[in-house]
Amino acid sequence: MDLARRKDDRGAGGLLTIDLHALVENYRALAALAAPARCAAVVKADAYGLGVATVAPALVRAGCRDFFVAHLSEALDLAPHIGTEAEIYVLNGLQPGSESLCAEAGIVPVLNGLEQVAAWRELAARVDRALPAVLQVDSGMSRLGLSTGEVEVLTEGEGSLAGIELRLVMTHLACGDEADSAYNPEQLARFLDLAARLPKAPLSIANSGATAIGGDFRQDLVRPGVALYGVGPTAGRANPMKPVVRLEARVIQTRAVPAGTPIGYGCTLVSDRPMRLATIAVGYADGWPRCLSGVGAAYKGSVRLPIAGRVSMDSIILDVSGLPEGALTLGDMVELIGPNQTLEMVAADAGTIPYEILTGLGRRYARRVLSASNLDGIVP
Ligand SMILES: *Cc1c(COP(=O)(O)O)cnc(C)c1O
Repeated sequence: MDLARRKDDRGAGGLLTIDLHALVENYRALAALAAPARCAAVVKADAYGLGVATVAPALVRAGCRDFFVAHLSEALDLAPHIGTEAEIYVLNGLQPGSESLCAEAGIVPVLNGLEQVAAWRELAARVDRALPAVLQVDSGMSRLGLSTGEVEVLTEGEGSLAGIELRLVMTHLACGDEADSAYNPEQLARFLDLAARLPKAPLSIANSGATAIGGDFRQDLVRPGVALYGVGPTAGRANPMKPVVRLEARVIQTRAVPAGTPIGYGCTLVSDRPMRLATIAVGYADGWPRCLSGVGAAYKGSVRLPIAGRVSMDSIILDVSGLPEGALTLGDMVELIGPNQTLEMVAADAGTIPYEILTGLGRRYARRVLSASNLDGIVP
């Protein structure tokens, strides 16, 4: 635990621990919820910041065979880590000029518009073999996918999908994390109507939130992301997932100041009493948002250590007056994400969602991976 004593930390300012055991438990729990639907994994943004090279092989060993990323570049980065049995799908679609690269790499594009369908169909004709694809339809979010009008054009045009092997028809919900939203069944109905006009293929709707809602939202394949990484799938409800991420920051200076002392950039805080302070080696360049200035906290055990003044680029000053004198010394670690301060709590303090905190955690931390011992003896 003591970062200062770890040989391999190379003097990093914080330690990010990724618990693959918990990740696999979360995958299994979601797969059990989804069954008999298949359970894919969304590993875009480098597995929500945790690292695809670490996360994806553990998921493959847990039985996952379907991986979603946002960009083709992410798919190419992921491919070496998942073997040949698993499929990779690119959610953001097929960009002009990248069709051959996508096909040659055996990546499955999500076709989000008629131009993309046409480009893929033309490539299939040119290479004289069927090319696999997912078709996304927009059921009411206006982000990605074919509109109702485009679906009509597609189904009226003879041979519009010629040479395209339809792996999946999918959509995405605007309010999947709101279990009681009346908009979810509305989108479901619109999606099923659009899918019925298309050639028969397996269907997919659900992100983490909609997987938790269950029922007709599961269809043939679910696509959870954030819940795999330990974030609760439904806003405002108890979090049933196992925590995957722990973040600790190193204390790099401690001091005691009298009343009337300016603290941090801009002197936005002036001590109104004698205070004990500790500076930690994590800042906004590590994805700890500057808007947590004077709002957020770190923890030592269950003791809350408020952020004093502004968050700097590489450091944060904490008010550690609540700890006994000498309780924190140079090289000690404090908790930023862990049992006392969840991702949800940090996000609430920062006025954002856990996704943004998780995906922003940055590259400067030392990383420790706890192995997925729960796989041992289960998968050869
Ligand atoms: C990101 C994404 C997901 C995963 O969403 P979570 O809320 O993280 O589970 C699923 N489907 C699509 C289309 C996405 O963009």
